[in-house]
Amino acid sequence: MDKVNFFKKLRMVYSIESYWIDKSILKMYSRDYWPLLVYKHVENIDIESPYGIVIPKTEDEVVKVLRLASEFGIPLRVYGGGSGVLGGAKAGEDEVIIDLSRLNWIRWYDKRSRIVDVGSGAYMAEVESWLNNQGYTSRHYPQSINVATIGGLISTYSSGQYSTGYGNIEDMILGIHYATPGGELIKLKPVPRGNILPILMGVVFGSEGSLGVITRVYLSVYKKPKKSIKFIYLIDSFEKAIEQAYKLIEYGVYPHLLRIFDEYESMLNFGLDRWGAVALGILEGGLASKDNMRLLDKLFGKKLQLGLFEKWYNSRNDVIRYIYTLFKSGLAVETVELSAPWSKVISIYNDIRSRVLEIEGVKTATAHIGHFYNSGVGLYFTLTIELNRLKSIYRDIWDTIEYICMKHGGAPLHHHGIGKVRGKYVREFLGINSINLLASIKRTIDPKNILRGGLEKLVQ
Ligand SMILES: Cc1cc2nc3c(=O)[nH]c(=O)nc-3n(C[C@H](O)[C@H](O)[C@H](O)COP(=O)(O)OP(=O)(O)OC[C@H]3O[C@@H](n4cnc5c(N)ncnc54)[C@H](O)[C@@H]3O)c2cc1C
Repeated sequence: MDKVNFFKKLRMVYSIESYWIDKSILKMYSRDYWPLLVYKHVENIDIESPYGIVIPKTEDEVVKVLRLASEFGIPLRVYGGGSGVLGGAKAGEDEVIIDLSRLNWIRWYDKRSRIVDVGSGAYMAEVESWLNNQGYTSRHYPQSINVATIGGLISTYSSGQYSTGYGNIEDMILGIHYATPGGELIKLKPVPRGNILPILMGVVFGSEGSLGVITRVYLSVYKKPKKSIKFIYLIDSFEKAIEQAYKLIEYGVYPHLLRIFDEYESMLNFGLDRWGAVALGILEGGLASKDNMRLLDKLFGKKLQLGLFEKWYNSRNDVIRYIYTLFKSGLAVETVELSAPWSKVISIYNDIRSRVLEIEGVKTATAHIGHFYNSGVGLYFTLTIELNRLKSIYRDIWDTIEYICMKHGGAPLHHHGIGKVRGKYVREFLGINSINLLASIKRTIDPKNILRGGLEKLVQ
């Protein structure tokens, strides 16, 4: 491993922007939003920095970086927006960060077919605003839209607030380019559909930078709908709200945005004078009909003021400031997303909530559901934890949640990825044969283990 010559060659032969001496620059890349790192940041505890940073500006430069890293045996960690919540983009002291944020072009590839060509380092909010200015939309709205790049979102298998109507990130990408660890550029042109493509696309979907570096994305976009109806209801209980949402989906009505909050999050978000669970959402285009509103009225019952919906909608992404305020007041915030079949969602929710609250130091455990499928839901827990106990009970919290979920037949993850936290649960969930297959894929694509990331933790 000859890092000094790696950097010298990057600069002198290829003129690629890179840093390895200036500590203040290295420090900027020392963390993402993993609570254990936010904790250190808030408490001013030193966090190790990566060995160096490389900032390519073109796909060709990415390829050159990978070839050189492979030649010199340099471990690389891909960095998008650094908004991951499980430490995936956090590099060790011997690793070099490859920052994709300069690959940020946004342009039409084929306007008639509604396909946009986007550099993988473009922030999702910039893509959305570029589209909105022309009357289009991506309808991929993760809560981290302002701080996440499209490449990062693909590599963590992201899910947004409009997923029930428009699907998740994997439903929106028609073609992709990625560089392999050996420095070959795989170019998959955008087409509506094609067999064999999922295998090649799958190499980088959800593999958290450990099998390839995404450089270019062909995104399927929509004309902004002319018509929409917003709704918000109060239901007696979270259990009842889940049951009614199940019936709605069974009717074949998938609101473009649908979210139900448990009683605790309902109280926290909406300050109601009655105990109950809030269900809210948006029907767009052809779904925005009187018939569908009648169906919602029948299923969900008591309508609330639309002003409450607007208040939630307009502030729904203002969460980072809130997280920091809580941390500064002595409470850490952790979020855990799970995949739960309809038949098990209530038992998973009840069992996790009661058991996790038994752990000394866990102050609150609340949940909402924001992703609805024919077979089940994406269930999302938010916990507040006494900051001074965070480290000592962290594993206990994750063990409790993940093992209960799996015991009931759910999956221990939905859209945040594996990062530095979930390896052991996902190993158990997948089973040894799947892990062995993944390990052989990793060895074949990346024999020198150049690309570090989620999968690397899984198969080590
Ligand atoms: C407040 C908050 C709210 C959030 N809400 C949501 C939400 O609603 N939905 C959701 O899905 N997620 C959400 N997240 C999680 C986070 O935004 C996602 O995981 C996001 O996908 C990370 O994108 P990023 O560009 O910041 O990637 P990073 O954090 O930089 O990296 C994440 C992982 O992807 C890899 N990676 C990054 N770019 C590339 C690339 N070009 N090629 C290959 N690998 C790459 C990294 O190596 C790392 O393993 C939220 C996070 C926060 C802090």
